[in-house]
Amino acid sequence: MPRPSKPEYAGPMVARRHGDLDLHAFPGLEALPGLLHVVTTRELDLASAGPRAQPNLERLRRTLGLRRLLWARQVHGTEIMAVSGEETAPVAQADGLATDRPGVGLLIKQADCQAVILAAPQRGVIANLHAGWRGNAAGMPAKGVEFLASRYGVAPDELYAAVSPSLGACCGEFVNWRSELPEWFENFRVGENHFDLEAATRHQLEAAGVRPQRITISGRCTVCHPEFFSYRRDKTAGRFGTVVALRE
Ligand SMILES: [Zn+2]
Repeated sequence: MPRPSKPEYAGPMVARRHGDLDLHAFPGLEALPGLLHVVTTRELDLASAGPRAQPNLERLRRTLGLRRLLWARQVHGTEIMAVSGEETAPVAQADGLATDRPGVGLLIKQADCQAVILAAPQRGVIANLHAGWRGNAAGMPAKGVEFLASRYGVAPDELYAAVSPSLGACCGEFVNWRSELPEWFENFRVGENHFDLEAATRHQLEAAGVRPQRITISGRCTVCHPEFFSYRRDKTAGRFGTVVALRE
């Protein structure tokens, strides 16, 4: 079969209204039966420290019709945890959550870091990963793929992946990159001090066996798009989020 000239599941994000919330979605993932996912905006501050976080998190859960909405205490590490939906958020210190239970939303909170959705809805398995530059440098996207293989027996080529709005190459300046980033990261350097972290994630997913045409990158830079929280732009603690769940 000839390769389609345009990746099957690539495309810009689309606006989606759920109840009274304006959210975003990946058209490619929407085509997958049994999968629910959204990207929120700064309309809802989901940061745990914020006074509005609890009501906002509950509002998001209800609007999406989820039995549970779970998140972890993210620490820019590579720990991934399988959840059953019986846990209470925050479930643990981790930067990735996975589940095979329907109705359990996995939330990654973010300001410039990536949320990387991994989904094999035909197998009833999903994960959501938190990957900033530290996560990229530590190989978090590939660790997520490996986790789903070892824990649930999902082969990498069964997975669909989507990378949320995040720090784009346009704004991804790392002046101390020589000391902060591993040497191999130079493959993703664009210009003097800028790095393309989306390209790094794509590379890591493909190297782990995810099919290129099943990877969607939002291509939306959080610094350039004020509808999202950006730590680099605002220096505030606000967080938007990316949620993935298996439909009940
Ligand atoms: Zn930008």
